[in-house]
Amino acid sequence: MIVRFWGVRGSSPTPLTPGELRNKISAVVQRIKPSHLHNSETRQQFLSSLPPEIFGTVGGNTACMEVRTAEGTMIVLDTGTGLRELEKRGRKFREKISEYHIFISHFHYDHLLGLPYFGAMYNPGVKVTFYSPYPAMERILSNFMNVPYHPVGWDSFAAKIQFRILKKNETLKLGGAEVNWIRRNHPNGSISYKVTEAGRSFIYSTDTELTEKDFRRTDKNVSYFQDADAIVLDAQYTLGEAIEKYNWGHSSYSLAVEFVREFSIKKLFLFHHEPLNTDSEMEGILRSAQWFDNRLEHRGRSSLEIDLAREGYTFEF
Ligand SMILES: [Zn+2]
Ligand SMILES: [Zn+2]
Repeated sequence: MIVRFWGVRGSSPTPLTPGELRNKISAVVQRIKPSHLHNSETRQQFLSSLPPEIFGTVGGNTACMEVRTAEGTMIVLDTGTGLRELEKRGRKFREKISEYHIFISHFHYDHLLGLPYFGAMYNPGVKVTFYSPYPAMERILSNFMNVPYHPVGWDSFAAKIQFRILKKNETLKLGGAEVNWIRRNHPNGSISYKVTEAGRSFIYSTDTELTEKDFRRTDKNVSYFQDADAIVLDAQYTLGEAIEKYNWGHSSYSLAVEFVREFSIKKLFLFHHEPLNTDSEMEGILRSAQWFDNRLEHRGRSSLEIDLAREGYTFEF
């Protein structure tokens, strides 16, 4: 399967500000030496030597992920503002996508904001199926599109829309893959989805405040999390913020690392980034998470692959 990150920010969209862009350009200019400008190869080497907080950004769009199965089935996880980037890519490569399978983690704005602007919803030639275990999904989603919160209502959508309520412990078969789900601890609830294909599994677990219960090695937790290949996990807070914002529904990066180690998950993407954090603060959080993980490694456990979820990033496994 192929996994693409289209929106990685939590709570509210966070565009790069003009001041931040100017600071990045100025930091690049200060580092340039005449030898870097010698030819296109040296210029390229110089650019790749720049730290990620200068030559890039983690991105400001809210939660949206794409999972493509080997058969090409389009699975979308949440419809935050990143959904527009997903659609833009399809347009750029002239892809004809006639069917979308959209799994909604929960109905907070940052997970829905892209939906009213999703062109596919206005196309009568497209089929869109929404999945969630919440029986009220159809009512909640259509109310979200009510006038005057948006110029047109849900009935302006022309796509063939279906709602599929997921059953308890259901394993859904989709395009050669299987999708499972589990409830997470978050105000008004939140659902994690796991996509498994050809023995490889990818877990999306946004908006999750990890508690002692999540670390219990119950049959349910073990069968869902144990030995998964990759997880996108809520790590919005530092430990200090997690203490201060107890019960706000998000986790610290240190708890995320401990959780991933508990279930021997191979790769961790820190997700649902705090909108107040700049790119350098985000890279600082990544270094702290890696440092924390190294300390655990010294206690006899092997190191973990950790990265920030970054907008536009793609991986295949
Ligand atoms: Zn959220
Ligand atoms: Zn939420």
